[in-house]
Amino acid sequence: MSNSVNPFESLQEQIDDASAYLDAGDDVLEGLKQPQRVLEMNLTVEMDDGTYETFRAYRSQFSDARGPYKGGIRYHPGVNRDEVKALSGWMVYKCATVDIPLGGGKGGIVIDPSEYSESELERITRAFATELRPLIGEDRDVPAPDVNTGQREMNWIKDTYETLENTTEPGVVTGKSLTSDGSEGRVEATGRSSMLVAREAFEYLGRDISEATVAVQGYGNAGWITADLLEDLGASVVAVSDSSGAIRTDGEFDPRAVKDHKRETGSVVGYGGADEELTNEELLTLDVDILVPAALENAIDEDLATEVSADVIVEAANGPLTPKADDVLADEDVLVVPDILANAGGVTVSYFEWVQNRTREYWSEERVNEKLEDVIVSAFDDLVTAYEDEDLETLRVAAYVVALRRVLAASEEGGTWP
Ligand code: NAD
Repeated sequence: MSNSVNPFESLQEQIDDASAYLDAGDDVLEGLKQPQRVLEMNLTVEMDDGTYETFRAYRSQFSDARGPYKGGIRYHPGVNRDEVKALSGWMVYKCATVDIPLGGGKGGIVIDPSEYSESELERITRAFATELRPLIGEDRDVPAPDVNTGQREMNWIKDTYETLENTTEPGVVTGKSLTSDGSEGRVEATGRSSMLVAREAFEYLGRDISEATVAVQGYGNAGWITADLLEDLGASVVAVSDSSGAIRTDGEFDPRAVKDHKRETGSVVGYGGADEELTNEELLTLDVDILVPAALENAIDEDLATEVSADVIVEAANGPLTPKADDVLADEDVLVVPDILANAGGVTVSYFEWVQNRTREYWSEERVNEKLEDVIVSAFDDLVTAYEDEDLETLRVAAYVVALRRVLAASEEGGTWP
């Protein structure tokens, strides 16, 4: 993994790559390459033993040209200002790629949550929500889960906000549990969009997905559900990994059994059905049909890219390929379905959750999944159309061209203030 690549610079490079196809000057584009504002916070919280600890936290609000800022909250020791800025920008272009009326934001706390008790994590999350309170709101900025956060943290944020505001406003945050105003289908949504784009990519290539082999890097929310849903299509999941290492089988894994093993032991490593343990790098270069990076940024740099053997890469994670890795893979005709489409299921069902919260009318899982499929398949078609009609280099360039045009149109039609 290359940690030397700054994800914020990657985002800016991706915008630059698309800019040649846009009818906009550098002066206008500059405004689309920077967040509107970034808040840096220090949260001092009492630990269970009575001592205090201070945590650095961020929220970046990149653009609200198309709707309220929207994006997840990450708890990870590697969180930093530029990472949060990059992730907030990717949210803008993701929402525009799938054409939902939201902008982009992202937040995070520099923390390894595995080192803290549940009550400590609750106090840390509530301290964060208290600092975020003036910035967020269902029409302002709507957080959601990301790495190491989930329904529990979103429920705490909602409760803190509603208590302090003396109101009920469930749409202030998405990814909540069902009994706390969440949506059916939200937990599975990111993996579901990754599965859908893999299916569409195979159809586009004229290949049968039920014969595909799959390797998944990162076995959390995005990764394991992608694996499970691809298996439902008949594909064979032959290797998976998490931060402790990777496993491979000569046959095919039962994704649920691997997940149960991880839930019980904390890792996929040691799963009884595996034939071999691998390093994470070895997993990324396995000879499989579909590679699903579903962990963190910069998983594949240009050196590793030369060794990738997969035909299709589905970016369930945000920013898993460095821009140079992208160039190498394009030269080798690997079809990369970019993150801003592949994992957009998460924010799409977050949008559905927000709509349901505002109307107080709740939808069936079937309705959510059908609407999600419509959004993702139609966005895939938009990208392929731009890719072919305008002879663009990659589907990523196509995604940025489509998304930037939508953001530019919204900004231009709204005019500039002051
Ligand atoms: P998660 O915390 O549920 O899972 C992350 C997984 O990655 C864990 O299994 C962890 O062990 C593994 N991991 C971490 N470092 C690794 C490494 N170096 N090698 C292999 N595995 C490693 O997080 P998540 O929500 O699934 O997020 C994963 C990615 O998907 C992130 O890039 C996130 O931004 C993106 N994403 C998530 C959502 C969502 O709704 N959760 C939506 C869109 C995008």
